[in-house]
Amino acid sequence: MLCKICKTKGKREKAVINLRQHKLSLCKEHYIEWFEKHTLKTIKKFRMFSMDGKIGVAISGGKDSLSLWYLLTKAGYETVGIHISLGITANKYSEKSLKLCQNMSERLQKPLIVFNLQDNFNHPIEKIAELSGRDNVCSVCGTFKRYIMNKIAIDKNLNAIATGHNLDDESAVLLSNTLRWETGYLGRQYPVLLERKGFARKAKPFCFFTEKEIVSYAILNNIQFMETGCPNSESATSPIYKQALAFLEHKMPGTKLRLYKEFFKKARPIFTKLNEEEVKLNPCEKCEMPTSTKICTVCRIVEKIKGKTIC
Ligand code: SF4
Ligand SMILES: [Zn+2]
Ligand SMILES: [Zn+2]
Repeated sequence: MLCKICKTKGKREKAVINLRQHKLSLCKEHYIEWFEKHTLKTIKKFRMFSMDGKIGVAISGGKDSLSLWYLLTKAGYETVGIHISLGITANKYSEKSLKLCQNMSERLQKPLIVFNLQDNFNHPIEKIAELSGRDNVCSVCGTFKRYIMNKIAIDKNLNAIATGHNLDDESAVLLSNTLRWETGYLGRQYPVLLERKGFARKAKPFCFFTEKEIVSYAILNNIQFMETGCPNSESATSPIYKQALAFLEHKMPGTKLRLYKEFFKKARPIFTKLNEEEVKLNPCEKCEMPTSTKICTVCRIVEKIKGKTIC
């Protein structure tokens, strides 16, 4: 298969990727160009952030976040990487993830903030979940990661936190929330969440790209990333929704993109209206981060596990 753009210029360059849902096959040069152009277009269209100020990129060591850090830096944004080291020892997951983040920091010559859970909360994430009596480690992990990222962004006065969420993540969340009619979450799902008192602006510049498209971008740019997922991902429910959507996508290319884009046009405004009455937030009595209760979830968990140990 030949590159469609090269073909229009009378060149016969071989395509390295075939984007079925866009009916487009591209060579290395034109794929990288297409990918970067679309990312910058998404940032502009949703007014995610500008060139002024610093952008914190939440990096896990995976393909999405490392590619995002690389692309934003290449495009001229002032970036800082933020990595939360969860202390997951199986398959040396956290150790290897940190190394990959440090490698990228060196390659980009950009600072990396590392937040170590063990140093700050005395336990790795799995123990925090176990000691707190919550059986779903991913739900505790998500709560801590959101809290820490937000706190760092506020403390460091960052303009926004950019995350590597992709179309597969976003469409799976959308499907899961729709099947449970989680109207609150549906009203809030969007490529950018504006800053509010105590909350930093959050943006997802890769939300219209599939995993396959991001992996291709990473490989073509020699980005080293974690090829194995977190050992706890089996307890997460999102892979089930991703598999269901992958089946539909295979039968009907473009399904995920259609579902996600049409949701913004046709359904989200209805849910946003339903949730017009904002939840009242106040500063947490312990850490001063915004919460709807007296003490935020993270502080409550930290309080509960204080001094507890598991033999
Ligand atoms: S799979 Fe679960 S435990 Fe692992 S990083 Fe994701 S949310 Fe955290
Ligand atoms: Zn080409
Ligand atoms: Zn708190």
